[in-house]
Amino acid sequence: MTLIARAIRRKCPVCGCGSIFASHFRMNRNCPQCNVVFWADPGESLGAMYLDYAVATAVFLVAWAILAWTTALSDFAQWIIISILAVASVLVCYPITRSIWTVLVYISGGIERPRLRMVRGGRT
Ligand SMILES: [Zn+2]
Repeated sequence: MTLIARAIRRKCPVCGCGSIFASHFRMNRNCPQCNVVFWADPGESLGAMYLDYAVATAVFLVAWAILAWTTALSDFAQWIIISILAVASVLVCYPITRSIWTVLVYISGGIERPRLRMVRGGRT
């Protein structure tokens, strides 16, 4: 439950304080609080795209069902409206799908807590 709440609030799954996103579409590479790297593997964005696909498909199906049963619009008009809704849902849900994917990466062990003594080139 804690991890789900952190994903919805777009907070770091490790510490729960640092923000995953700098803006709506710009994801931080590291947590500003605990400094973990969110997606060490650049291929992680592919996993988030699967979630985008799931969101778009769900919106597509719900919008299609509503339009098909409640309106008498032409197929082309329905297709245009459904496509716009599907694309808009992906854009609106972009930070949430990335946050959820970050939590999944954390659960699968893909995010390591930083070691306490991480001084590059230092003596300690
Ligand atoms: Zn953190």
